[in-house]
Amino acid sequence: MLSNCPKCHYPLTHPFGLTINERECSGCLTHKEKDQINWDDKANELDLILGRFKKQRSRYDCVVPVVGDAEDYYTLSKVLGVGLSPLVVCVNDYFKNDIGWNNLHNLMTHFDVDSFVFNPDMRVYKDLVRTSLRKFDHIMLPFLQLHTAFPVHVAYERKIPLIIWGQNQAVEQVGKFSHHDAAEMSRWNRREHDLFNVEAGHLIGNGAQVDERDLNYYRYPEVSSIARRGVRGLYLSNYMRWDPIAQNQAMTKFGFIPETNTATFDIYERAGSSVYYQFHDLLKMKRIGYRKVNDHVAREIRHGRLTSIEGQVLLSHYNGSRVYIKPFFDWLGVTKSGYDWFKMHRLSNYLDFINETNTLDETSTPILSDALKRKLFESKVSERQFVTFGKGLYI
Ligand SMILES: [Zn+2]
Repeated sequence: MLSNCPKCHYPLTHPFGLTINERECSGCLTHKEKDQINWDDKANELDLILGRFKKQRSRYDCVVPVVGDAEDYYTLSKVLGVGLSPLVVCVNDYFKNDIGWNNLHNLMTHFDVDSFVFNPDMRVYKDLVRTSLRKFDHIMLPFLQLHTAFPVHVAYERKIPLIIWGQNQAVEQVGKFSHHDAAEMSRWNRREHDLFNVEAGHLIGNGAQVDERDLNYYRYPEVSSIARRGVRGLYLSNYMRWDPIAQNQAMTKFGFIPETNTATFDIYERAGSSVYYQFHDLLKMKRIGYRKVNDHVAREIRHGRLTSIEGQVLLSHYNGSRVYIKPFFDWLGVTKSGYDWFKMHRLSNYLDFINETNTLDETSTPILSDALKRKLFESKVSERQFVTFGKGLYI
């Protein structure tokens, strides 16, 4: 049996579940729908659905959860384009750098929308991050729990009937559903695809010393309550021909700033994070055997901007890239000896991937296809990492 897709190189270890035959994987197969679907019909379908939500019951027609990513710019521009009135909600993951805050604030001011940033209790949050790292080799789970539950609480509490997300990752990455299924947000989908089956309860008990009451927003609201209020969550990627790098590049016209990094060629996705392409990427490799660049290479091969062989070359270029993880341990309040202990005991097979200074000094240029190069604009280098609160920042 093949362990990687012969076309896009995705490994069988993909946490969403992947099937592979001798020619391609389930993700590649579902991707072909993008060229078969009549997207005008899908757009009409979406218009019909959204039309029912316009100014029905509340001041806001929908909640749009964001992190300040280029994809959020795209989603918000579509939501406003069809005349919906959104409430934009962001959960602070405390990992943003200066570029991340700039992109978030620019999103809110450029589109001139009502918004708020939820800052979770820092002590509880760090406790959960510490436990999540210790038990699951994952530092983003507490954020993912908030990011996928808090907007649902907001919609429920404020009687806003709709939540609009950008892409459905299970469709886009591994083709778990057809676009035609128009899978919607659900507690199951959240647990299965956003949280890798780890819910807030798994992080307490003999883990973090956290009071159950502090975890309310980390948990999905009661399904029966949501159903009673009729809160629905849609993914735009089921209704439009989703092409992240092309969409994200176009968002620079609204002031989105791409960020240079050494772990992938994609300068748009999750630009502005101090951990995403650093410690988080290393832990991803430890947990599931591949890095974020694999997602990007698979996507670009499917969209025809890389050949399978060009993709392979990029994977070998980026898979050995080193990460700078010490700033994360400083943020968590871990001593130098604690940091050394962790490296020796938990990352002993990955020491070659760890740099003790900023990795950007090591940048070497990979060979990119012309089609891909055309999608990459100039990016910036972050100057300040781990900016806890974004007030008063200016780039
Ligand atoms: Zn594939």
